[in-house]
Amino acid sequence: MIDKEDQEFMDKHNLADKFGSDRTQRCIDLMRPEIRPLVSLPLKEKIEKTKEVIREALEKYKNIGIGFSGGTDSLVLLDIVLQVKPDITVVFVDTIRDFPENYQFVEETRQRYGIQNLITIRADKDRCDEYSAKLGFKSPEFMVEYCNDHKIAPMIRAIKQFGFDGFLVGLRGVEHEERAQEVFFSPRSNPPHHRVHPLLFWKREDIMTYVKENNLICNPLYAKGYKSLGCTICSAIVTDPNAHERSGRGIVRETVMKKLRELGYT
Ligand code: SF4
Repeated sequence: MIDKEDQEFMDKHNLADKFGSDRTQRCIDLMRPEIRPLVSLPLKEKIEKTKEVIREALEKYKNIGIGFSGGTDSLVLLDIVLQVKPDITVVFVDTIRDFPENYQFVEETRQRYGIQNLITIRADKDRCDEYSAKLGFKSPEFMVEYCNDHKIAPMIRAIKQFGFDGFLVGLRGVEHEERAQEVFFSPRSNPPHHRVHPLLFWKREDIMTYVKENNLICNPLYAKGYKSLGCTICSAIVTDPNAHERSGRGIVRETVMKKLRELGYT
């Protein structure tokens, strides 16, 4: 269910073809030659490769943290990482505009896994109305300013404040053309650290199979029809079975991803 702002933007810029299910293959085609063959591995081998990347990260970096958003990718990553490093520091970025169900799910997950170190870092202030009035709700400019203040800046603050030199995130290459070109250990300069992407070569089907086989309890918002979860601003229920897995995440946001990633988004 695309909302009014996204639909208008999509029509105006002729983007209908860009967000269908064939986007997954487009992303695979964009992957680096050393990552692309990993996409077709059986799940068991993917899990082993993922653990190998995590172990390598634990050797490379002195102080490593993991981002947890409440979404299924980050849940699967968390489940695997906790098997290797049960005392890892987990960071949840509170955008102030998350779904109430998400706050509850993050807390329940903390309790379920007995997570010892969960840091919640919050955006300074809710600036949604201010940016809406100035830039237009969900315009490209709004998305850049809003996401920078509500998501990117707090995450960078956490990385600085806790001195992480390695930060694990559940990014997958098939989600977005910008992410498709990523590497396992991705250097960032502000502050200097590496983003680590152990799920870079996983497909959505792998995530769902892992969840099923390991009886993971997922965010209840998926049962309501959300395919990809973020804060309330750009997460929408998806009814089209042929839509790409990110289709509920805001067309405008998807088109400014390059800029967001330059600012430090995952
Ligand atoms: S879910 Fe969308 S609007 Fe919310 S912080 Fe993430 S990118 Fe920005």
